[in-house]
Amino acid sequence: MSQMLWDRVVGHTAAKLSLQKAVEQGNINHSYLFTGPPAVGKFMVARAFAAAILCPEGGCGVCNTCRRVLEEKHPDVTVVRPAGKNIPVETIRAVRLDSFKRPSEGDHRIYIIKNADRMWEEGASTLLKVLEEPPANVVFILVTASPGALLPTILSRCQEIRFANVPTDELTEYLVANKQVTPERADLIARLSGGVLGRALDWCDEPWRLTRRDAVIRVARALRRADLNRVLEMAGELLGEVRAPVEGLADRFGERKEALADGSLDDAMVRRVARELDEELKREQIKEEIRGVKEVLSTLSWWYRDILIFKEGGDASLLVNSDLEPQVAEEAGALPVKKLLRCIDLLSESMQSAERNVPPQLNIESTLLALQEELYG
Ligand SMILES: [Zn+2]
Repeated sequence: MSQMLWDRVVGHTAAKLSLQKAVEQGNINHSYLFTGPPAVGKFMVARAFAAAILCPEGGCGVCNTCRRVLEEKHPDVTVVRPAGKNIPVETIRAVRLDSFKRPSEGDHRIYIIKNADRMWEEGASTLLKVLEEPPANVVFILVTASPGALLPTILSRCQEIRFANVPTDELTEYLVANKQVTPERADLIARLSGGVLGRALDWCDEPWRLTRRDAVIRVARALRRADLNRVLEMAGELLGEVRAPVEGLADRFGERKEALADGSLDDAMVRRVARELDEELKREQIKEEIRGVKEVLSTLSWWYRDILIFKEGGDASLLVNSDLEPQVAEEAGALPVKKLLRCIDLLSESMQSAERNVPPQLNIESTLLALQEELYG
């Protein structure tokens, strides 16, 4: 089989090999989940995979079939993207109906769903129906940077192919060389950033992120003994952690507003631009707050994942919170696997709620209470 198709995809050796093998052995699954950081090349590989499935040569990269798949012009390959912020339920319904049709040329119909996490509940449950009983010869490739935001029932239907940006040790080396951080700190940041360079640089430049992680984990550990008042108080503390960077935004906008009064604009114009800045600030604050809530929730989720990983094998090199191994070990001794799994599910639901604009305070309070009930209730 020609390698040309795959050679054009940079990196991702393991993913390519496993998909190539599936095509060669005619052992193609109904649904795949391509996960990994944004802009890492998941979609590129999804398209190459689709071409390899349909190409008579198993992915020559040059034939008419390959070319049309790569140009998104092949009738048996549908690429679904969010319209605006989300993928409308109507689109998923149409995909479902379409998937029952016979392929028009080859022997497969392939649906690549980009940003598959951006579905409302109804869209997600429609998709779940197809995944539960997929028509013959249909292949779904769900592409997402946030698998935690997908229904666990969808996740469990898919074969996950993971895409990584930079391996931890390479990223650690880079941070040590370029950001003047100690090797231990660099290793921790490489893990916490999930191997995404941009995020790792944020963690280096914004030390409050690490302080916030510590606060979140302190709260998680304190749930064991906290009464209702204390839980609500701790929710307030986490909310404070979320809001601090949001307030920083207001300062920056304030400076921009002051700069307006330098005399170069007339008063009416200054008022108008100031109003526009106020509105932009409000939008940015809401966005930043949602991001903050999701980060807090995902810190919690990683924490429980770490405990789970430790329980399942105790391989400390797999921990995200590698600096907290003794604490992870302590919790691992006390918490059963089943409860940890339910906490992780619960947190992915809370992350979806954050996306749906559930008020941050309500979301954090109810999440902490639910975690406490699940773990210690
Ligand atoms: Zn071809």
